Amino acid sequence: MSQCPCNANKRFSQCCWPFISGKIKPETAEQLMRSRYSAYTRANIAYIQATQMGPAAQNFDAAEAKQWAMSVKWLGLNVIRTENGKAEDDTGTVEFLARFQLNKQIHELHEVSEFSIINDQWFYCRAALHQKPEP
Ligand SMILES: [Zn+2]
Repeated sequence: MSQCPCNANKRFSQCCWPFISGKIKPETAEQLMRSRYSAYTRANIAYIQATQMGPAAQNFDAAEAKQWAMSVKWLGLNVIRTENGKAEDDTGTVEFLARFQLNKQIHELHEVSEFSIINDQWFYCRAALHQKPEP
């Protein structure tokens, strides 16, 4: 398989695909965050829904998310900062910038995402900072 959408230096098959395909569970919040980004680039909203809980899962419109994910061209992901979110932690925070192109314009999505361990599995729970640019 080709390079991973989350990191051009890694192969998809050795980075996010094992998580997205359900073969293994992410060990860290960053792994989950990266795999969710990669799932978005493939408009795999089922994976997005399966890996979120709490506020993030409320008011989530799967059809709208799918349409948005398919209408943008994903350009890359930068993980800026992670706090906790390791295998031994219960919670974690990942700050990232995701770049995408929509209607010939480049946009940056800047988010501080909060993750929690629920039933031995990482879930995306909340965006502490969410700046989605105007369309
Ligand atoms: Zn990846």
